[in-house]
Amino acid sequence: MLPFTLTHLHNTSELDSNSGAKNSRFIAGGTNLIDLMKLQVETPSTLVNLSDWQDETRIVEHDEHFRIGAMVTNTQLANFASTTPGLSLLSQALLSGATVQLRNRATTAGNLLQRTRCYYFYDTAKPCNKREPGTGCTAVNSENRIHAIFGTSDKCIATHPSDMAVAMIALGAKLALVAPNGEKRTLPLRHFYCTPGNTPHIENNLKEGELITAVILPKQAVGSQYYHKVRDRSSYAFALVSVAAGLVMKDNKVSALTLGFGGVGTVPWYPETTINALVGTELTDANIEKALDAELASAQVYGSNNFKPPLLRNTLHKVLRALAQHQRTYPQHEGALYEN
Ligand SMILES: Cc1cc2nc3c(=O)[nH]c(=O)nc-3n(C[C@H](O)[C@H](O)[C@H](O)COP(=O)(O)OP(=O)(O)OC[C@H]3O[C@@H](n4cnc5c(N)ncnc54)[C@H](O)[C@@H]3O)c2cc1C
Ligand code: SF4
Repeated sequence: MLPFTLTHLHNTSELDSNSGAKNSRFIAGGTNLIDLMKLQVETPSTLVNLSDWQDETRIVEHDEHFRIGAMVTNTQLANFASTTPGLSLLSQALLSGATVQLRNRATTAGNLLQRTRCYYFYDTAKPCNKREPGTGCTAVNSENRIHAIFGTSDKCIATHPSDMAVAMIALGAKLALVAPNGEKRTLPLRHFYCTPGNTPHIENNLKEGELITAVILPKQAVGSQYYHKVRDRSSYAFALVSVAAGLVMKDNKVSALTLGFGGVGTVPWYPETTINALVGTELTDANIEKALDAELASAQVYGSNNFKPPLLRNTLHKVLRALAQHQRTYPQHEGALYEN
């Protein structure tokens, strides 16, 4: 690890042009950033430590939304979400991530901004456009079993690894941001991440030095909810494919549906095409196939990840079938399909 200067942020009024600027990084739980610094994938000269920033360690309920402070830990949020029916898929997603020890340390903003787990991104001996723009992408023609099928370009096919982000995208989350000049704005999480295109090193729409202060989660419960994560082992593993879903059925038809796909996109994937194709229809196998086919029309496979479209198909069928069955048996049900 290279030497760095450490400063502390106590509240956002201390933000200035030095905080989070070019060669400076905010550090929250440190569970991703420190690993990257040890490998010299990230080499900040200044770290702005957020651990004394008490203002954003709470979850506050408002009339129409919950405000989740940036420094709320993954454990805190999972516990809260598990007792809030409209957020149950978020709780399931968080509890499927990492381990208890990591979740106790990891924060809401840090989880959203964690970097990809592409093996070549972490291996500084290999070309990687995300780590070093213009050097090439090793994964495109090598082992790419864990890589993306949606939103890829020939410059980068890395997946976004966050389970929490997939659930939050399905739940219509917004980010509250503050810039070093004090300017505040909100941005839907669905529009926060950037697909790689020709600039895979630009991963999101944060401006220089901008800080995430909170996530705003609307109170708009979507019926029965389920986060299903398919992975190589049952703990301590990122998603190969995951599906976040909330479903309301009326008269045997889909009256409301939300979805998010993980493990398959260069960004947490919001499958708008699939959702639009299914709302108003009967949830038959044929309709699910047709809706997912329309989404997969834009997908591309790269060899070792050729199994992902069929795995996504099977996972979506399993999740939607289970949710539909539950809605038929318990009409107007709200909350988790399975308890964690
Ligand atoms: C072995 C292992 C397994 C894991 N498995 C999973 C998994 O299955 N699913 C999953 O989703 N995650 C998993 N994780 C990732 C883990 O959830 C993340 O490391 C963690 O959420 C990052 O949070 P943090 O607070 O430690 O972030 P940090 O490491 O402190 O920061 C991460 C990034 O966020 C930036 N940042 C932090 N806070 C702010 C802010 N408020 N504003 C602007 N920028 C900010 C930092 O500058 C840095 O770039 C795993 C991690 C490990 C090590
Ligand atoms: S997929 Fe992206 S992160 Fe991985 S080697 Fe290629 S450019 Fe780097």
